[in-house]
Amino acid sequence: MIWNPEKECMSREQLHELQSERLVKIVRHTYDNVPMYRERMNAAGLTPDDIKSIEDISKLPFTTKKDLRDYYPDSLFAVPRSEIVRFHASSGTTGKPIVAGYTAHDVENWSEGTARCLTAYGAGRGDTIQVSYGYGLFTGGLGAHDGATRIGAAVLPTSAGNTSKQLMLMQDLGCTGLCCTPSYALFLAEELEKEGLRDKIQLKFGAFGAEPWTENMRKELESKLGIKAYDIYGLTEISGPGVGGECQCQDGTHLWEDMFYPEIIDPATGEPLPEGKEGELVFTTLDKWGMPMIRYRTRDLTHLNYSQCACGRTMVRMGRILGRSDDMLIVRGVNVFPSQVESILLEIPEFQGQYFITIDRVNNVDTFDIDVELREEFYTDEIAQLHRLRDRLVGRIVSVIGIKPNIHIVEPGSITRSMGKAKHVEDKRKFK
Ligand code: ADP
Ligand code: ZN
Repeated sequence: MIWNPEKECMSREQLHELQSERLVKIVRHTYDNVPMYRERMNAAGLTPDDIKSIEDISKLPFTTKKDLRDYYPDSLFAVPRSEIVRFHASSGTTGKPIVAGYTAHDVENWSEGTARCLTAYGAGRGDTIQVSYGYGLFTGGLGAHDGATRIGAAVLPTSAGNTSKQLMLMQDLGCTGLCCTPSYALFLAEELEKEGLRDKIQLKFGAFGAEPWTENMRKELESKLGIKAYDIYGLTEISGPGVGGECQCQDGTHLWEDMFYPEIIDPATGEPLPEGKEGELVFTTLDKWGMPMIRYRTRDLTHLNYSQCACGRTMVRMGRILGRSDDMLIVRGVNVFPSQVESILLEIPEFQGQYFITIDRVNNVDTFDIDVELREEFYTDEIAQLHRLRDRLVGRIVSVIGIKPNIHIVEPGSITRSMGKAKHVEDKRKFK
């Protein structure tokens, strides 16, 4: 099923026209109402009249996360405060959070995006969707909630945490959909297994996002929960979850390009990259009025595929997000993304997807330690067997990533489980 075929399946020519029309309007709106955008355009020698079609977008200056911090809390808002009906804020690891303000129209468009995703997963009236993303300032909970309401499904707003109650309600109410981070889904799956409830639940699909996850994690979650697991992508600055989502083909995340215009740039030079090349994802919001974003640099690394999808949607597909550029670790000169470790672990049947990386520097050399767990059924205290498994994992990591880690096989269940976005890394070098 397709929620909005008129938009999701519109011809690329019509889409181009719509994007151009919308870009012209939103650039004018930001120029007239947001001093930062006006000053930056003036400095670049641009006026709104220079922006005539979507091709002109590359003339416009970028907006960064730092800008959102510098203009905290609301200096990038483009409407009077009386037009704002909702605020959200994203965590921000240090200092001030990033605040987003939405008009009624913006909230409606956001839920339109999430409704498209949920419909693509096969959800609709008659489904009961458990929203285990956190409710509150984080966009996950309310974002999924509004989308589920919009498609006429019943929402079970459990938020994150209180896992045994979640599982009881999931079972007793016959929930058919689950929205949460892939880390929390993995934890829920483990607990279901432990309590022998796997056959008592009726889940059909999961909408997983808010953090990077891999194809191997998809397989793991699908087999453990007996569901189809779909990607949902979004970020607070652009609206929240539902900027894009996968379809039944599970071959890329469709981005709702009529509302959010994506580009891929070289993170070092800012130059646009050709289709298919991996780089930094940049968004311009084409129909968001409270806090419009012009060429916002997400720091998320991925690529785009404009070929037509078998589902009938014409909207571009984004590849899996490798991670944010700031998640990339440089260990002994080699680039390492935590998601690579997840993928390798899940290729070896004896290991499970939980891991924790610790990086340090001893005598001027980087250390690279990874705590991992065996699946319960493979756990053993036979040293020779543990060493064999450890060496196999080390071998795979050396061949894929290129450096040798110290692997610590810890007892099943001992790595801290996450209810939201998982923390997989501690880099102690930062504090030295
Ligand atoms: P914070 O910056 O505090 O994490 P957000 O909740 O707005 O706040 O996080 C958005 C970010 O989460 C995205 O920029 C991206 O890095 C990550 N993310 C969201 N959805 C996905 C997804 N489906 N796959 C990978 N990463 C995702
Ligand atoms: Zn598709």
